Amino acid sequence: MPLAGVKCGGSKVSIQDCLDCELDFDCPARPFRIVMLDQKVYGHGDYVSTTLLTGCPLQSILKREKPYYADLNSFWYMTRGTIYHLVAEGAKKSKYWKHGEEFAEIRWKSKIGNPLIRSTSDYLRLYKTMNNTFILYDFKTTMDMIKAVGSIKDYYLYQGNIYRLGLINNGYKVGNLRFMFMDMAGWKTVKYPVVPEQKVIDYVNWKYDCYLNRKGTPSGLCKNFCPVKEYCEFYKGD
Ligand code: SF4
Ligand code: SF4
Repeated sequence: MPLAGVKCGGSKVSIQDCLDCELDFDCPARPFRIVMLDQKVYGHGDYVSTTLLTGCPLQSILKREKPYYADLNSFWYMTRGTIYHLVAEGAKKSKYWKHGEEFAEIRWKSKIGNPLIRSTSDYLRLYKTMNNTFILYDFKTTMDMIKAVGSIKDYYLYQGNIYRLGLINNGYKVGNLRFMFMDMAGWKTVKYPVVPEQKVIDYVNWKYDCYLNRKGTPSGLCKNFCPVKEYCEFYKGD
């Protein structure tokens, strides 16, 4: 079962009722609610995504299997991310776009360690002055993440490095990695480290094993950010 509806004023409301609601003056307008709530649920294919591996794999499984209700606020970052991706798609249609030297929304598939991974990376730009290598940019929609520590930091570090290996395996000569953080305070780009290939593979294999064996990887984010914690045997409260 995918998303079943939203939590609203202490009640559980179905997706349809939330979309039809005419008491929505303090809520995101209908087009935003449609984008937030009309989610596609992909089955367990022969591949996994980078997002599944870098988050808690059990959360992804439970979100596919169990009916769950989420607060509309929890979709805000996803919605904002969608807007930024539309910007990249729009830039690709411009006469200024350098075809062959820059790529956005790059879909790729690659075996890294044990799993076949399928993902989309944000933006690649070729730098002729850097030995004709690409820099991979990963767009992030909040500056707060710059201050993030612990599991969130690992999450981003490995996310970018899995993207890097996947793109290299697909023929892109990727050198450095940069985050581009954006929020209402403006934007900031930050270089982040390249992790040795074997370390990335070990991480991928560990998380893939958790996925295959339905093991949760609790972090300080369970209480506030996991909408399926009520079904999780690993959740002990944060
Ligand atoms: S639109 Fe807002 S008030 Fe109406 S059901 Fe959805 S969350 Fe509740
Ligand atoms: S509660 Fe924590 S460990 Fe359990 S599924 Fe959610 S994120 Fe994973």
